[in-house]
Amino acid sequence: MSSHMVVHYDEIGTKGNNRSVFERCLERNLMASLVGLPVSKIEKVNQRFLIEVERERLPEAMVIASRTFGVAWLAEARIASLAYESIREGALEIAGEGRVAKKSSFRIDARRANKQFPMNSHELSVRLGDDVRKATGLKVDLSGAELSLHVDVLDGRALVYTEKRKGPGGLPVGVSGKVIHLLSGGIDSPAAAWLMMKRGCTPIYLHFYVAPDPKLVLETKIPKILRTLAKYSGKSTLILLPFSVYQVTCAEVPSENEPVLFRHFMRLVAEKLANEFHADGIATGDNLAQVASQTLQNLACIDMGGKLPVHRPLLSYDKAEIIELSKTIGTYEASVEPYKDCCAIISKHPKTRLKPMAVEFYSRELDFDALSEKTIMQGSLAVFDPHEESMLITPLRTEATSVRR
Ligand code: ATP
Ligand code: MG
Repeated sequence: MSSHMVVHYDEIGTKGNNRSVFERCLERNLMASLVGLPVSKIEKVNQRFLIEVERERLPEAMVIASRTFGVAWLAEARIASLAYESIREGALEIAGEGRVAKKSSFRIDARRANKQFPMNSHELSVRLGDDVRKATGLKVDLSGAELSLHVDVLDGRALVYTEKRKGPGGLPVGVSGKVIHLLSGGIDSPAAAWLMMKRGCTPIYLHFYVAPDPKLVLETKIPKILRTLAKYSGKSTLILLPFSVYQVTCAEVPSENEPVLFRHFMRLVAEKLANEFHADGIATGDNLAQVASQTLQNLACIDMGGKLPVHRPLLSYDKAEIIELSKTIGTYEASVEPYKDCCAIISKHPKTRLKPMAVEFYSRELDFDALSEKTIMQGSLAVFDPHEESMLITPLRTEATSVRR
């Protein structure tokens, strides 16, 4: 037995000539996230998707679809023909279930995308409301009904449904292009990645690790965070770079300069990788003035000499708001697990206003260009597939080359 869910998008509907690009991307993302479930059909009808799934697995499919960016809302829907009797049958079935659940009032919300249907929305609502009231004894209540019966009259069929489940909104992941996303093990950067995805970006994660071997990173909280994020974005790529190359070369840098200088270095490396991975920007979890390295002046030092924009979607959030967001996303628990991150090793008391001259001086003296190349040469790549348990880690250069192709 199969059931259907109707999936609505919102913002995509406002796109002009590009709308079909957005719709196709959302369809691809929905199909990719539903892999492994018995989905027999996905169809676009009157600016919404209709997905047919084996009945027992429908709740699972709805949870997955409700995490897919671009989805405004979704609902389990009964399919009726365009004959009024068929629509009434669907409405009576749902109203009957409502009565069993001890609901006492209802309202009909009918919409007609198919203007060939002989009744207008108001006429359909009135006639159907009357029939449901007589058949079930439920009261009509237009303002505070316990049961809302939605009817969408579409091309070739009508949908009848009740509870709408909210989706995350935004745009389908992939439509806006790629960003290199600087990911630490903290609370902020995973939340920032989620916000970038919400606007249609595919993050390519870049993480600098302290461990002596990249394989050891896969035993930490980092994969847990990425697995949760992959539930929203699908398959994702993580670039792992050793902190040790920078650490050894920059051991003599005065500690109060270190945090900003290292962040400047990370940005430089991210920019080089952006070229390789065809990314059009860099993103971080920076938040204005959250810590001393994030003053306006220090952020300017971090960005100095860059050719690509650095996106900081959390810039104006309060920490409490970030925590709330990360709990909603599901990354919070892993984010607060202990982890030895590079930024915990370098000084926690940076200058609040590092001089741009200092950044120029150190990046020249320590040859950041060569240092970044050397670091990248020692990099590794891991791919996270939400449908697979195991994860392969390979050297960055060979994989990056194949990504370029
Ligand atoms: P979070 O780490 O989640 O931001 P935080 O406030 O501890 O929390 P900071 O140490 O201030 O973060 O770092 C600011 C930003 O720099 C991070 O949001 C992240 O984008 C980037 N970053 C920090 N550490 C690393 C790392 N080890 N690898 C990659 N990027 C990092
Ligand atoms: Mg932070």
